[in-house]
Amino acid sequence: MEKIPVAILGATGQVGQKFVLLLANHPLFRVHELVASQRSAGKKYAEIASWKQTTPIPAEVAGMTVKYTDDALSSPILFSGLDSSVAGAVEEAYARKGHHVSSNSKNHRMDPDVPIVIPEVNPEHLEIIKRQPYGGGSIVTNSNCSTMFLVMSLAPLHREFGVEAVQVTTMQAISGAGYPGVPSMDILGNVIPYIGEEEEKMERETKKMLGTFTGAAIEPAPFAVSAQCNRVAVFDGHMETVSVRLAAKASPEAVRKVLREFRGEPQQMKLPSAPAQPIIVFEENDRPQPARDVWLAGGMATLVGRVRPCPVLDIKMVVLGHNTIRGAAGAAVLNGEFMLKKGYIKV
Ligand code: NAP
Repeated sequence: MEKIPVAILGATGQVGQKFVLLLANHPLFRVHELVASQRSAGKKYAEIASWKQTTPIPAEVAGMTVKYTDDALSSPILFSGLDSSVAGAVEEAYARKGHHVSSNSKNHRMDPDVPIVIPEVNPEHLEIIKRQPYGGGSIVTNSNCSTMFLVMSLAPLHREFGVEAVQVTTMQAISGAGYPGVPSMDILGNVIPYIGEEEEKMERETKKMLGTFTGAAIEPAPFAVSAQCNRVAVFDGHMETVSVRLAAKASPEAVRKVLREFRGEPQQMKLPSAPAQPIIVFEENDRPQPARDVWLAGGMATLVGRVRPCPVLDIKMVVLGHNTIRGAAGAAVLNGEFMLKKGYIKV
């Protein structure tokens, strides 16, 4: 099959750079266009991107000239890591021109006709895009980066036991704040107990993603989520300590088994970006850790450890994931693969 040309919106940013890496040598997609702000437009990607990855810029992308978000694009699929100050209007304008936008940005996540999709968890929510007013185009989002790992770990428990209440405290990496992000004098040797709007995003997005598609709307899940979010001096990887109240009581062993055995359609379909095991469960007392474990399964797995009884709710556990891979670019690429194979994107 001929590869489908795709564009990266926000190609110069932290998420955009991860798109560049994940789409190099991708079996279904080839990077055809790179898009960023007026500051970058008209310049060669290698000259303008402040490249922060551990491997060089792929040769086929390095010499490409960056376009501006007002420019017409020819790629049918657009992967977006645009800054939220512009993502809303830009993504909508491209969708109206018939492009399929797979977005990381917050702007459209809570639109009633836009799903926040994890293909292992809520693939049926994609049906709502048939109600979007974009003609042949569409907008699909993935969640906020910390919500991703919370929902991945809650979804199997909600399905098996029923989730009734959730408390989560995050320790989030600096790469989650984009580049240059948090000033070094603020974060070195420090913890910042506030990330703008992050707690609200975790609380509302979790309920939407674990909600029910009625055929006409996505009804949010009825349980309460309480989030406390902190920025810590870690480069990549958002860690979360999670406590859950379950409708049907379950032992830590039963919870571990359900998490370990969880699989979804992307695994059955063997999609290129799907991790073989979406949730990796650790038995060691001191795992998972960002510095040791965040790159397991290429950064696409959700890592869970320390599953144990909670004296306040029922079960508590530690959850970790790679914020710019499964929490951002990798999630959007997987959504693109899934939509293509399921016929939501026709090219
Ligand atoms: P970033 O490093 O600051 O990159 C932002 C990108 O947006 C750059 O390519 C930038 O282009 C472009 N941009 C900024 N202003 C623009 C304008 N006026 N017109 C057109 N393009 C403009 O941010 P990031 O961390 O990659 O995050 C990108 C998006 O993904 C954000 O919405 C963020 O909330 C979301 N997200 C991030 C993460 C994460 O872990 N980092 C996870 C999930 C979701 P120039 O270089 O030309 O300025």
